[in-house]
Amino acid sequence: MSNIGGREPALEKNYDDWTEYFDILGEPPYRADQICGWLWKRGVFDVNLMTDFSKKLREKMSETVDFSFPEISGHVKSNDGTKKFLVKMSGGTAVETALLRMGPRLTACVSVQSGCPVGCPFCVTGTVGFERNLTAGEIAGQFIVMERTAGRVINNAVFMGMGEPFLNTEATLGAVKMLNSPKMRGLGIRHITISTAGIIPGIQALAASGLGAGLAVSLHAATDELRSELVPVNSKYPLRDLMSALRGYQRVTGDRITIEYALFKGRNDSLENARELARLLHGLHSYVNLIPGNENGGGYERSSPESVLRFQSVLKSAGFESEIRTARGGEINAACGQLKNPAGGRSRNKT
Ligand code: SAH
Ligand code: SF4
Repeated sequence: MSNIGGREPALEKNYDDWTEYFDILGEPPYRADQICGWLWKRGVFDVNLMTDFSKKLREKMSETVDFSFPEISGHVKSNDGTKKFLVKMSGGTAVETALLRMGPRLTACVSVQSGCPVGCPFCVTGTVGFERNLTAGEIAGQFIVMERTAGRVINNAVFMGMGEPFLNTEATLGAVKMLNSPKMRGLGIRHITISTAGIIPGIQALAASGLGAGLAVSLHAATDELRSELVPVNSKYPLRDLMSALRGYQRVTGDRITIEYALFKGRNDSLENARELARLLHGLHSYVNLIPGNENGGGYERSSPESVLRFQSVLKSAGFESEIRTARGGEINAACGQLKNPAGGRSRNKT
């Protein structure tokens, strides 16, 4: 986020930064609790509404801090309750985010980059190219702005919107901390999941961070030849190295890893593909999400329900836990791999 007129962005400050800020102003430490309450618990970024600060202090804060905030400039709603938002950052960058409803629970699917440089051919985000990395505050801010707009508590955050979290690791982990910190949003760490295309240094950084957020790996293929076609970054981080990194992650964290496998007709959905997957995952404590692929017009067709079930039965007989994930928000292009850069986007309702 840009530093407007030399003022520091409020969105990028964590609790310790605020403590230091108020200390310099000669204010008591509880001011940091107050400001984080306004920004992160109540989603209020208008300093004039922060009535527990004196007028003089509010003026001082406005002079020294930039209170601009990601703005929702449009949304569309799907019949299954999924909403897709267009969120504008300062400087004009915009990203798409989604809010998914599953029974009483709400899940925010946030973006970490505008576009994505990985370029998976079946993913719309990957085919629109890459604009820039988002900052920690811009990532966590999407959650807050959606929560404020929804007027309801959001229970989960998944880093599965636009972009690759581990090509923007520092900001991604910074956003996790902002959402998780009890002084800030206070979202339970078990309610936060990061999905990666398999960038090994990021997986290692997550393990080393000790944060405890969930890890999901978008595998989609169990041989290097096929995976390099579907997830091009596989050429840099091939399966042997990736699996060894996942075992290392598991040794450090003790956590089960979610494996995402989108199924596309005739590409990666055969019985042999399923057997290869079972062989590859042998010995790893995992949970496999099978996602009937969303069609984006790039020549990748969704597998038939029968093929998906057949695929699952192979995994089941090999002793793996798996789930077939129903696509949500498909009709408004808010499903996996359908979030894109707004340039060339379709018309949206104004909020
Ligand atoms: N870049 C990260 C996170 C964002 S993509 C990653 O790739 O994991 C979120 C998920 O959507 C990934 O599992 C991705 O593989 C999946 N996805 C992308 N396009 C899809 C499509 N057309 N159908 C089904 N899943 C898709
Ligand atoms: Fe990027 Fe993930 Fe899409 Fe691949 S699937 S292009 S890594 S957002």
